[in-house]
Amino acid sequence: MLQTAMRFSHTLLKEVIQTGDTVVDATMGNGHDTAFLAQLVGLNGLVYAFDVQEQALQNTEKKLVESGVREQVRLVHQGHETIATIIPKETTLRAAIFNLGYLPKSDKQIITKPDTTKQALDALLARLESKGRIVLVVYYGHTGGEAELAMVQDYCQQLPQEEYSVLTYQFINQKNNPPILFCIERK
Ligand code: SAM
Repeated sequence: MLQTAMRFSHTLLKEVIQTGDTVVDATMGNGHDTAFLAQLVGLNGLVYAFDVQEQALQNTEKKLVESGVREQVRLVHQGHETIATIIPKETTLRAAIFNLGYLPKSDKQIITKPDTTKQALDALLARLESKGRIVLVVYYGHTGGEAELAMVQDYCQQLPQEEYSVLTYQFINQKNNPPILFCIERK
């Protein structure tokens, strides 16, 4: 059976992340991706996880403690547009994940935005290791979602092919705007 975009995002991350790596969850939400990354990097690794909502930090903290992986995660209660100020320039990253859109069952006004997502991508690319990957799962059915999808598509298409490989993954015969996945890999 074909994997959902969310499941495929984890497959793509698992292929490149090893214990001891430093990685980023740019949109922590309820912490599903943060916990997944924390398991992959292990006790010697580090996950930076960002979100603007206090509730996201509380939910993620709980999930990490329950899963026994709290130690290797730095929870940052700030937007991912601040990545360049939080993660030192010399730190190299193996991978990063974004789930763009709003947090289900939460305030639908708090959404990711094209400008701030772009700032985060710039900062992540500047730190991405060779063979490292940035995965974006873009939910775009809400107001403002199409504009963000267009920005991500444009950003990805303009990356030089000598330096990056970029793929998209999407179901093209499903109703209700299923998410579209983008994966940027540095060569
Ligand atoms: N990956 C999450 C999970 O596993 O539950 C779901 C993420 S949800 C689709 C999008 C999240 O992005 C929301 O929790 C929202 O608060 C957060 N968000 C919105 N603007 C943000 C920003 N500038 N920086 C970081 N997170 C942001």
